[in-house]
Amino acid sequence: MDKDKIFEEHYKRSLIRAGTACCPGCGGPLFWRMALEALGPRTIVYGDGPCAYCAIRNILVPTLGIHFSFVADGATGIAAALAAKGREDITVVSSAGDGATADISFNKVSAAAERNENIIQICIDNEAYMNTGIQKSGLTPFGAWTTTTPRGKETPKKRIPMILAQHRVPYVATVSVAYPADLKAKITKAKGMRGFKYIHSVIPCPTGWRFDPAKSVEVVRLGVQSWAWPLYEVENGILRLTVKPKARPIEEYLMAQGRFRHLTKEEIELIQREVDEERQRLLEYDGKSIIH
Ligand code: SF4
Repeated sequence: MDKDKIFEEHYKRSLIRAGTACCPGCGGPLFWRMALEALGPRTIVYGDGPCAYCAIRNILVPTLGIHFSFVADGATGIAAALAAKGREDITVVSSAGDGATADISFNKVSAAAERNENIIQICIDNEAYMNTGIQKSGLTPFGAWTTTTPRGKETPKKRIPMILAQHRVPYVATVSVAYPADLKAKITKAKGMRGFKYIHSVIPCPTGWRFDPAKSVEVVRLGVQSWAWPLYEVENGILRLTVKPKARPIEEYLMAQGRFRHLTKEEIELIQREVDEERQRLLEYDGKSIIH
C-alpha cells in the first residue's frame, strides 16, 4: 500500500483530521490523536484558548472553545446537564493549557476537584504562555528562558498533579506522548471512573523550547528518562509509578533545548540534585498512600 493510501485509511478511522493550525512538531495534535483513541466518539471537549486549543479545532467530537479564565466551569455545567438527562454514556473532558490550569483558572479547577465533578480535566502543559509570546507561567520549570524570564526562571514549577491529588479526587495521572500505551491506559481508566479525574500531559513545543521539530518525541522521552517528567498515577490516594527508567543525566534533556542553553554547570547540578531528590521521594512512596 502506498503512503497516501495508508494516511487515507488511518484518517477514515481517526477522530482527528489530518493537518492542524499548530506549529510543526507540536505535541498537541499527537496528544489528542492518542487520547481520542481511548476516549472514543461519545466525548464532549470543553477547551480553553489558543495553544491548548489549536489541536482541538481539528478533532471530530463536539467541542466548545472558551476563554482561559473559565476552565472547568462550563464542563461542570455540561456534566450536570447530561446527568439530568440520564446520559451516562458521554465523557465530558475539560482541557486547558498550563497557564490556565496552574494560574488563571486554578481556582476553578480546584473548585471542580473539591466538588468531585464528573469530568476529566486535562492539562496540556507546554510550560509557558506560548501563543501570546512565550511568557513564563506557574508551570515553567526553574532555569527556563522565556521572554519574561530572559535570564532563566528563578522559581520552581508548581506541582499541580500533586496539589490536585491532595484534593482527594479519585484519579490523577501524568502522561507523555512519548509513551502512548501508558497514556492510553490512563485515559481509559479515567474514562471508566466517576468523579473528578486529572490528566497532566507535558507536550513538546519546538517553538518555545527551541529545538528541531523533528525531535519532538525524542525530547519528551528524554524528559521521562531523566525523571524531569516522572510518569505516575494516584488512584484513590495511592501513588504508583508506571514507568521506572534507569535515570539518564538531566543535562541530556536540558541541552536538547535552546531554552536551557544559558544554564551554568552549577545550575545544571542544582537541577540534577532536585530531580534526584524527587525521584527518591517518588520511589519511596511507590505503592503507598500520599494523602496526608
Ligand atoms: S507554540 Fe508550541 S504549543 Fe503552541 S502550537 Fe506552537 S508548538 Fe504547539
